[in-house]
Amino acid sequence: MSDYDYDLFVIGGGSGGVRAARIAATHGARVGIAEEYRYGGTCVIRGCVPKKLFVYASKFSEEFEDAEGFGWSVGERTFSWQKLVAAKDQEITRLEGIYRRNLERTNVEVHDSRAVLEDAHTVRLLSTGQTVTAKYILIAVGASPNVDSGLPGGEHVITSNEAFHMSELPGKVVVSGGGYIAVEFAGIFNGLGVDTTLIYRGEEILRGFDMDLRTTVRQEMEKKGIKVILNDTFASIDKMPDGSLLGKTSGGKILSADRIMFAIGRNPHTRDLGLERAGVEMDGSGAIRVTPDSRTNVDNIYAVGDVTNRANLTPVAIREGHAFADTVFGGNPWTVDHSLIATAVFSQPEMGTVGLTQEEALKRTPDLDIYKSSFRPMKHTLSGRDEKMLMKMIVDAKTQRVLGVHIVGPDAGELAQILGVTLQMGATKADFDRTIAVHPTAAEELVTMREPTERLRG
Ligand code: NDP
Repeated sequence: MSDYDYDLFVIGGGSGGVRAARIAATHGARVGIAEEYRYGGTCVIRGCVPKKLFVYASKFSEEFEDAEGFGWSVGERTFSWQKLVAAKDQEITRLEGIYRRNLERTNVEVHDSRAVLEDAHTVRLLSTGQTVTAKYILIAVGASPNVDSGLPGGEHVITSNEAFHMSELPGKVVVSGGGYIAVEFAGIFNGLGVDTTLIYRGEEILRGFDMDLRTTVRQEMEKKGIKVILNDTFASIDKMPDGSLLGKTSGGKILSADRIMFAIGRNPHTRDLGLERAGVEMDGSGAIRVTPDSRTNVDNIYAVGDVTNRANLTPVAIREGHAFADTVFGGNPWTVDHSLIATAVFSQPEMGTVGLTQEEALKRTPDLDIYKSSFRPMKHTLSGRDEKMLMKMIVDAKTQRVLGVHIVGPDAGELAQILGVTLQMGATKADFDRTIAVHPTAAEELVTMREPTERLRG
C-alpha cells in the first residue's frame, strides 16, 4: 500500500482526463479526479457536441428550400431558439451523466471542485479546502477562449462559451476570427437566419489548411449570404444606449451588431493552477511542456490535451490520456503519433482533411501530382442550389504515395475519417485506382481521378 491517498489524481474532467482516469482505474490504480465545472469538459459541454447539434439545426433552412426541387411544398417555417437550446441542454446533461457514471463504474473517486497543486504530490480541492496526495498527477485542464483583453470595449463581446446559452437569437452578429470556431459559428448563425459577418485579420480564412479548400469554403460561405471581411480586425467596440454594439475596425469600417463573438483561439487553462509551486514548466503561451509520452519536467506529473497545446482536438486528448494510463499503470508503454490526424471543420459546406496540404507537401518534395475535381453534388441537380464540392488529392510523383486528401462538401468529415485509415496504411494512388467505385456517390470521385490536373516538378 503506497503512502499516498491515490495512485493517480487527475485534474480536469474533460475528454483526456476522463479517459486517463478510467483506463488507469481498469489497470488497478486508485484514482481520484476533480472537475471545477461539468464532467465532459469543453467538447461535451460547450464545444464539439453542442456545436454539431447547432450545425444540424442551422442546416434545416437549406433543406426546406432544397426540398422544393424534389416536389415538396414546405409550408410556413418558424424557428425557436429557446426550444433548440433547451433540447441541446437536455442532451448535454444526459451525456454529462454518462461521463460521471462511467467514472464511478470504474471506481474512480469523483470530486466536484476546482483543484490546484500545492506541491508535486499534493492537490488542494478548493470547494472544501481538503488536500489529497497522489503518486502521479495528470493535468488535463484544457483551454479557455482567448478574448483580446487590450481591445477597447472588449468586455462587450461574447465567446463560444456564451453563444451556447444566449437567451435570444440575435438579429445581427459579427464573428471575429478565421479558425475552426469562427467559421463554424458563422455558418450556424447564418443558417438560423441571423445577418452574419465574419471578420478575419489574414488574407484567407482557415490558415493551416490547403489553400484551395480555404478559398472554396470562403466563397461558398459568401454565396450563402455570410459577409466575409478579410485583412481587417476590430480596433474598438462601443455599446449603444439601445444595447446594440458598434465596432470600429483597423481598416476604418463601422460594423453594427446585436452580438459580437470572438473566436480568436484558446489559451491553456493554466493560470493559478499551482504549477509554479510544483515546479512544472510552461512555454511562453502558458502551455505545459511535455515529452512525447506526456511527461512534464517533474517526473510524476503528466499533462494531456489542449493544456499541452500539441494538436488541440478531442480525439487527440483521448489518445494521449489512454497512452499515459497504459504506459504508467498498464505496463504497456506507447506514445501518440501526432503526424497524421484527420480532421473536419463543420463549416457550411463542411471540410474534411487528412495529411499534407499542397503547401506542406511541396516543402517535403518538389515533385507532386495534384488531382483535383470540382463538381456539383448530385442532390443539387434538382435542388438547383449553386454549391460546389471539391476533392483534392496530393500524390508524391516519385513514390506515388498519397500524401494528403482534402474535401469540401457534404459529409466531408465522414469521408476524412476513413481516408485517415488509408493514409495511415500508406496508400498509393494505384491503391485508390484499383478500388471499385460505389455508385452513385460523391466519394467515387476519389477512385476515378485518372489524370493529374497539375504535375509539379522541381
Ligand atoms: P484557431 O486557432 O483555429 O483560430 C483562431 C483564429 O483567430 C485564427 O483565425 C487567428 O488568426 C485568429 N486570431 C488569433 N489571435 C487574434 C487576434 N488577437 N485578433 C484577431 N484574430 C486573431 O482557434 P479557434 O478559437 O477557432 O479554435 C480553438 C481550437 O479548438 C482549435 O485549435 C481547434 O483545434 C479546436 N476546435 C476544433 C474543432 C473541430 O475539430 N471541428 C471545432 C472547434 C474548435 P491567424 O490564423 O492569423 O493566427
